[in-house]
This record gives sequence, C-alpha cells and structure tokens, in this order.
Amino acid sequence: MCLRTFPIKSYRETLNMVSTSFLKHHFIAPDTLEERAALFAQSVSNVVVEITQHCNRQCSYCPVSGVDRLTNRAILPHEIFDQIIHDLESIEYDKSICLNLYNEPTADRPLLLQRIAYIRQHLPKSRIYFSTNGDFLTRDYLQAMVEAGLSELYVTLHPPKNHAYDDASAMTRFTEFSSRLGKGVKVHVLSPGHTIQGTLTLFNLKINVFTTNYTIYGSDRGGSVASLTNASLGRTSPCSRPFNDFTVSYDGTIFPCCQMFADNDVHQTYYSIGNIADFPDIFAAYASITLAKWRQDLLRFSPKASPCDTCSEDCRVGSEAEIAERDAVYRQFVGEIETPEPAQQPSPRRLLSWLKPQRHLTKTGQR
Ligand code: SF4
Ligand code: SF4
Repeated sequence: MCLRTFPIKSYRETLNMVSTSFLKHHFIAPDTLEERAALFAQSVSNVVVEITQHCNRQCSYCPVSGVDRLTNRAILPHEIFDQIIHDLESIEYDKSICLNLYNEPTADRPLLLQRIAYIRQHLPKSRIYFSTNGDFLTRDYLQAMVEAGLSELYVTLHPPKNHAYDDASAMTRFTEFSSRLGKGVKVHVLSPGHTIQGTLTLFNLKINVFTTNYTIYGSDRGGSVASLTNASLGRTSPCSRPFNDFTVSYDGTIFPCCQMFADNDVHQTYYSIGNIADFPDIFAAYASITLAKWRQDLLRFSPKASPCDTCSEDCRVGSEAEIAERDAVYRQFVGEIETPEPAQQPSPRRLLSWLKPQRHLTKTGQR
C-alpha cells in the first residue's frame, strides 16, 4: 500500500469553499487525487468500519434478526482494513473512527484488540469508539481495550429477543451491568417507558450506557425494518451523513450512511456506492459521482427519495434563512432547482418507494 501525504493546511485553499460546510467538490467528482483527498480531509469527521459480520443477538427491531449473523462470522478483509487506515494516515486523520455497524465487535476479542491497537499506532490523534451490546464486557476486557487505545464506548443494554421494553427489566439490566463491572452507572436520564441513560468511567474510559424503547425510537434502517417504517413521514429535511460520514460494511461495501445494511439485497443493489476494493483509495470512493449525487439530493430542504423519505435520522425543520442558504448553495454548485422537485420524478431510488411492500426484511436493529 503506497503511503501518501497531503498538506492539510492548504486544503481550504485547494478547494473552492463557499462556507465552512459545503464545497464544490461535494457535488461533482474531482479530477485529481489531491482534490479528492482534500475533500475527504475537509469533510469527514466519522469513519465507520464494520470490522466483522457476527452479532450474538437477534433483537427484534434490528435487520440482523432477519438474517443469520449468529453463525456467519465474516471479517472485513485485512487488506481492506489496512487500506482504509493507511489512506487515513496519509491525511493525518484525527477525528472519529467507529468499529461497528450491525456487528458485535467485542465477540472477537483478539481481532478487536488488534484493530484498536493498529488504528492507534497509525492514527495517534483519532478518537476510536464503538457501540456494543455489552454482553462480553468485563473489567479485564475493558482494561485491555483501553491499553490498546480505545477512546470511548457506547453500551446499549437490549432486552431479550421479542421481549417488549419495560421499566423494571430496564433497571435490572442496568443493575446487572454495574454489578458485572464492579462500578455503578451514574444515571442522567430516567424516562419511564422510554429510556434510561447514564455513564461510568473505568480505567479513564468514558462508557455511555443506554437502554431504550426502540418500538418508539427505532429507525427503519433504510426501510429494512418495515415494522418501524413511518410511510407518512415524507422527509424534506437535509442530511449530513453523506457529507460527514464514510461508511464501510464488513464485506467492503460502501454506503452513504449507517442506515444501510450489507446483508439486504435491496440496499446492496440500489444504495451501495460500490466496494472499496474497486477504488484506488478511500478518497476516490468518497468523491465518486455516485456519492456526490446523494449529497446533491440531501443538501436542500426538499422531498427526499427512498430510502431517505422515511428516515427520521436527524430530521428537522429549517429556518427561512437556512432554507435560502442551502438553495443558494445548490444553485451555485449543482444547478437550477427543478420544478417539480427532483425526488418527485421517477428514478431508481424513487422507484423503490413504490416497491416497499416487497421488501423482505421486516425487523430492525438499533444501537
Ligand atoms: S436521510 Fe437517513 S437514509 Fe438518507 S442518507 Fe441520511 S441517514 Fe441515510
Ligand atoms: S441491535 Fe445490536 S445487538 Fe441487537 S441484533 Fe442488532 S446489532 Fe446485534
């Protein structure tokens, strides 16, 4: 793997920036490696790498429950993992890197510790974190992860499969978790019927602990959890994920966000940006025309195509000033705003909205 270096301080001059947020190259495919690396370095603050396929649970609100990730234990190929880290090293990446999507990273202790240590060695200033169901956590394991270089941990204490959320069981899960680690969780949020949230610190590691009623707060994961799909949502909100995130599944598939599930055929066919093995580097994938088109669609306050039309992730109403600002950015970098809105016209992604009843995955999984 060739190692390149780029002068980070010149990125803003290299690119044609109109604001601290949006760049011309977000919406077109830049020609040169330097431009693509500069765009990535300027934009991406969260690299998500699903280092394994396996999860030991099958939560009823998770797309994992519709496939076999119990016995399937594929690992993101070493050469792909190395490519990602070495490309990030070439831009001296110092922001977040997450080690999970729909996998349970702690299920493979030797691999997880090796991955954390490798990232810490090559990206010494990065923030390494992941979400876990907490089933395998012990004090000893936590200490080993801290020594390897972990920065922060998120623990979601799920109920058993097909058990509805209830407050008594939720509190019991918190108590059992605290007992196992020998230290109490300081509860910050206790909302009956909704969620319990708290934190504890062990070996100087901040551990965020949650249990949440996902029948209320779950996401439909790009439509792969039909029971959670709010077909009337009609999202018009922009989304920052395809700008700020770079997301790679365990098989090397690149998606525009963490809502996509690699084991879902619809997601693979229609929402994948491609496989990272097919790109010369991660910057070419991030700066591809396919991902640029997602960013075009998600820049403005406007009707969204499937699967974003039913996605509640970071959904919000814009002020008049923000709507106008984003419309102006769109006109400058993409073109005139069409009437009717682009998302209302037939397109492969739009067509998927009409096929929703045929989607074959009916459960959801949440972190
Ligand atoms: S709106 Fe939802 S599905 Fe669409 S890119 Fe954003 S997070 Fe992903
Ligand atoms: S929600 Fe998390 S723990 Fe539950 S099945 Fe999905 S990935 Fe596994």
